[in-house]
Amino acid sequence: MECLRCGTCCTAPDITAMGKPLGVRCAHLTDTMQCAIYDERPAVCRGYRPDEICLSIAAPTMGERVEKYLRLFDM
Ligand code: SF4
Ligand code: SF4
Repeated sequence: MECLRCGTCCTAPDITAMGKPLGVRCAHLTDTMQCAIYDERPAVCRGYRPDEICLSIAAPTMGERVEKYLRLFDM
């Protein structure tokens, strides 16, 4: 599936490679939900692909999407 640019995968999980804590928006996520360091993004981000999880966490606000994402992974 195509990425919906909801920004949740750049906010909900912790990203050790960048010292990004759980539930904190990545400093490189732009207001238009794009990666400001796309060409230099870490391997973990490069490997991430949109799938059915993106649909199951859909919600009107980022807070709700992050909550659903973290609940899905028991985080
Ligand atoms: S959670 Fe899925 S739809 Fe949302 S930005 Fe990430 S890959 Fe795209
Ligand atoms: S580096 Fe880019 S792709 Fe990775 S979490 Fe941050 S904004 Fe998202």
